[in-house]
Amino acid sequence: MTWRFALMIEPAAAGDTRTDFAETFTVIDPATPALSVGELSTQRGDGIFESIGVVDGHPQEVEAHLDRLAHSARLCDLPMPHAEQWRQAVARAAAESPASGEGVIKLILSRGVEHGPAPTAWVTAAQAADNTAPRTHGIRVVTLDRGFDSEAPARAPWLLLGAKTLSYAVNMAALREAKRRGADDAIFVSSDGFVLEAPTASVILRFRDRFVTPEPSGAILHGTTQLSLFEHLRAEGREVGYSMIPVSDLAKADAAWLVSSVRLAAPVRAIDGADLPVDGELTASFNRYLLSPRD
Ligand code: PLP
Repeated sequence: MTWRFALMIEPAAAGDTRTDFAETFTVIDPATPALSVGELSTQRGDGIFESIGVVDGHPQEVEAHLDRLAHSARLCDLPMPHAEQWRQAVARAAAESPASGEGVIKLILSRGVEHGPAPTAWVTAAQAADNTAPRTHGIRVVTLDRGFDSEAPARAPWLLLGAKTLSYAVNMAALREAKRRGADDAIFVSSDGFVLEAPTASVILRFRDRFVTPEPSGAILHGTTQLSLFEHLRAEGREVGYSMIPVSDLAKADAAWLVSSVRLAAPVRAIDGADLPVDGELTASFNRYLLSPRD
C-alpha cells in the first residue's frame, strides 16, 4: 500500500461542543514510527477500524462508516467517537487523496496505551490497489467453517462478532487457506450451516430476480457497500432482502458477488469448484454505481 498521509487525533469526548477540531489533529509522516510500544492495538488488536473507499478525491458513504465505527465502539466498550471530529479528520485525509483514481482512508480507534490516559486514534490515506481484475474476471471462492453456530453472537457477545475490530488475524488466515485450496477468496459459513460473510466483504446472492444477503444478526458486519447497493437496487425497482441462507442454497444461486468498500463488487465465478455464471453487464453496472459519488 502506498501511504500518502497520516493524522493523529486527540479523541474528543462525545459531548464536546467545538465546531472546529483542527487543533486536535497532528499530521505525521506515514513512513516514520508513531505509536508507543505499549499500544494495545498492536499488542492485542484491541481497537476498531473502518476502511473508506475514495473515488476521485471523494470519500464514499462517510456517514455509514461513522455509524458503524460508533456501533463497533459500543460493542467493544470504547469511548463513543465524536462524529463531527472524525468527519473533519476524514475530510482532511480526503483532501490529501489523489484527485483522480481510487484511494482508501482508514480510521483507527485503539484502546490506547495500557493504563494510559486516553484511547489512541488516527486516520491514514493511501492509494488503493488496482481491482480491475477481480471486478471484471471474477473470483473463485471456497466455503470455510467459521467455527461458531448462528446462536453464538447472542450466547457469547464478548466474541465481538458484529464489531469491526483490529483483530483480523483470523480473517487473513482464512484468505491464506482459500489460496491453499486454489481459490481467491472465502465465504465463511456457520457451524450449523448458514452463509455468513467473506473475510473482508459481504456476500450478495441473486435468486432469479431477487437479491439476498445474510441477515445482519450480530454474527457478521453490516457492510456499507451492501447497504448502499441494496438501496440502489431498490430504487431501480428490484427486489432485495435479508435472510438466513442455508449453505445448500449457494449451489442454487443464479449469481453471487462479494462486495466491499475498496474492491467494490467482485462477481463470484466458482464456489467450492462449481462454476457460477458471471453477469458481466450487471456487475459493471454495480461498479459504475459504486464508483459514482455516494454520501
Ligand atoms: N465483512 C467483513 C468481515 C469485512 O471486513 C468487510 C469490509 O472490510 C465487509 C464485510 C464489508 O464492509 P464494507 O462494505 O463496509 O466495506
